[in-house]
Amino acid sequence: MTARNPIGVHALVWVGGTRPDEIAEAVRRTRAAGFDLLELSLHEMEVLDVAETRRALQDAGLQVACSRGLAFDADVSSDDPEVVARGAAILQDSLEVVAGLGGSVLTGALYSALGKYGRPLTSAGRANVVAVLRDLAREAAGRDVTLGLEICNRYETNVINTARDALRLADDIGEDNVMIHLDTYHMNIEESDFVTPVLEVGDRLGYVHIGENHRGYLGSGSIDFPAFFHALATIGFDGPITFESFSSAVVSPTLSNDLAVWRSLWTDGDDLARRAHQFIETHLAAAASISA
Ligand code: MN
Repeated sequence: MTARNPIGVHALVWVGGTRPDEIAEAVRRTRAAGFDLLELSLHEMEVLDVAETRRALQDAGLQVACSRGLAFDADVSSDDPEVVARGAAILQDSLEVVAGLGGSVLTGALYSALGKYGRPLTSAGRANVVAVLRDLAREAAGRDVTLGLEICNRYETNVINTARDALRLADDIGEDNVMIHLDTYHMNIEESDFVTPVLEVGDRLGYVHIGENHRGYLGSGSIDFPAFFHALATIGFDGPITFESFSSAVVSPTLSNDLAVWRSLWTDGDDLARRAHQFIETHLAAAASISA
């Protein structure tokens, strides 16, 4: 690996929301734990003070990435035009926030609600995803923002569950600023292994979430991280690698329920995050030592 990957942390390791006091705390602790990037969920973007957050991030020398899913009553994968329009409006507002924060990444389940669907995606619903995300991508390009398609497991979406699903969707959207976002937690449920999807995605990989199979301490579960980091080294991935971990110790009134965060997997976010940063750096260096 030639360039150094920015290493990020999801704000839900620190705080449940994005009010100014919560942002200040997340920024302080992200920096103290040695990360380069803070990922903010836009689930409650109405309470986010965009100008103040931008200033706080800049003062701390942190990059930002934004993520979100949609909701069942505002879902661009629906067959109902009104539901699709509500989803599209939320994505437009989210793009405004990303640009206002000075960010260049909007990723997540931009293509559906974050939750268990009771039936497969319809062809009309998929066509709506393609049309909405194509328009959004064209607008995002003018603001130097890249859209990520985060591949999520079957209990959180019915639109894209595997790397191949995501590549097909990105092909159909057909815009250069749409990239693929892999997450080891979801890969563990849906993919055959931790190498093949990375090689299939190749230079279209734009963002990575590192999470254990239970989303607790890295190294305390069953994910084959050496294989995954070797695969990243093989494709020369130099994009952001963001640690994602959730515990009932830190609760967002909305996002925690969407993500089914019922268990307490840790209580000390500072210890968790410090060790995660070290874990990611160690695996990057180990993989680089072989591929060099
Ligand atoms: Mn994720």
